[in-house]
Amino acid sequence: MEKIASINPATEELIEEIEVDSKEKVVEAVVNARKAFPQWSSMSIEKRIEWINKLIPLIENKKDEIALTITKEMGKPISMSIGGPSIAINKIKYYAKNIQDHLKEEVVFEDEDEKDVLVYEPLGVIAIITPWNYPIATVFASLIPALLCGNTVILKPSEFTLIVGRKIGELFQKLESFGFPKNVFNLVLGGKETGRQVVQQDVDKIIFTGSVQTGREIMKESSSKIHKLLFELGGKDPAIVCSDADMAYAAKKIVRSACNNTGQVCCAVERVYVEADAYDEFVSKAVEEAKAIKVGNPELAKTEIGPFASKFQMDVCIDHLNDAQSKGAKIEFGGKRIKGRGYFFEPTVITNIDHSMKIMTDETFAPIIPIMKVNSIDEAIRYANDSIYGLTGSVWTKDIEKGNKIARQLQVGVAGINKHGGGGAGSAWGGSKLSGIGRLGSREGTHEFTNIKTLRMSK
Ligand code: NAD
Repeated sequence: MEKIASINPATEELIEEIEVDSKEKVVEAVVNARKAFPQWSSMSIEKRIEWINKLIPLIENKKDEIALTITKEMGKPISMSIGGPSIAINKIKYYAKNIQDHLKEEVVFEDEDEKDVLVYEPLGVIAIITPWNYPIATVFASLIPALLCGNTVILKPSEFTLIVGRKIGELFQKLESFGFPKNVFNLVLGGKETGRQVVQQDVDKIIFTGSVQTGREIMKESSSKIHKLLFELGGKDPAIVCSDADMAYAAKKIVRSACNNTGQVCCAVERVYVEADAYDEFVSKAVEEAKAIKVGNPELAKTEIGPFASKFQMDVCIDHLNDAQSKGAKIEFGGKRIKGRGYFFEPTVITNIDHSMKIMTDETFAPIIPIMKVNSIDEAIRYANDSIYGLTGSVWTKDIEKGNKIARQLQVGVAGINKHGGGGAGSAWGGSKLSGIGRLGSREGTHEFTNIKTLRMSK
């Protein structure tokens, strides 16, 4: 029986060895989800909302335990890990309030003879495959709309956060003890191979959050079945700093965005383009801000960034930095692994960079702020769009109208003006270019979990 070791990245110590589910278990989970579908999908939406709302007190009761598990398994500071259960609860509240409106039928054509109506039906069995960097938030962002739309679900969480995944399973076991129908939610635990086994089954849609490379593999594997796919993939997010920006504010927000969660955020700032007039001031403020970040034991309340979640992530960071330095980059601050146990790394500001370096083209997923001087905003926009990725981007200026014009030229899913990252409740989430296919959140996002059927009626 295969097992995967869960390692605490702050101590490099073994937490537990977790059993991988067999291929038979994966097949059985899909068969069971298929059997559970008729009852769940025919239940009224009010009743489905009632059931999903019952998760809220269960999550509340376990929030500290879940947060500590996230911190131990992937090194997120405890002050941030506690946000995971809160996000899960907020997702439930948002969809409980809005989903009936999102699923409202729509008359799209009508004359004296005929009427066409769009109706939103559940798809069937949805497979959700998730990463480790936000092991609760990424799961609930898909799980809640999937279930509320009337689908049954197979969840395959990351092999780096299997214990967190098991805790999500326990929430549903508890719900089932109150009478929630069995096999509406199905958990399979394992790594890449288990993910592949899920993709090989007859499921009605795959909602995948993870890397571009895995997205390619899933797409290839899915081609014979023509699986419907929603992909939330990686990013290499640009930030453009105009010379009229509030430099202290821009530097603070950009550095925090780049270093948050040890830089392991799909929509972290990974590239900064600064207008020449403001360049020196921005670099010095960015260094000041990077120096102020408290790196350390993620279980302590005061810690702002913990270790990388794995040695693999740290090695990617070191490789990108070595590549940049070999091509002439200058480390303004940081740049080294912190001595001792755990995969801790210094927040790092680098300059003298260009687009021949991996640090400007590939997703680094590290607390690195590469800053490049540009001679004009047009040049900054060209560089910002010179990427295979297009998740989020931002522009920093006191002139909101100018910011608006620049933001509209960024080839991304979410563009911020004096802000970076995803939007609030109700906004759409997803990337352009290789950063994804489809959207989560918003009315459009809810429709991703449905079969949009046109009903044609002759009068
Ligand atoms: P990953 O692609 O390595 O793994 C993600 C999941 O896919 C895991 O559960 C893994 O076991 C599974 N998997 C791996 N190979 C598979 C295969 N061939 N078939 C099926 N499943 C397979 O990504 P990761 O390292 O866990 O996460 C980091 C990546 O996720 C980064 O690129 C990050 O930008 C991205 N991400 C994107 C978003 C978003 O919303 N756009 C959010 C979080 C993370």
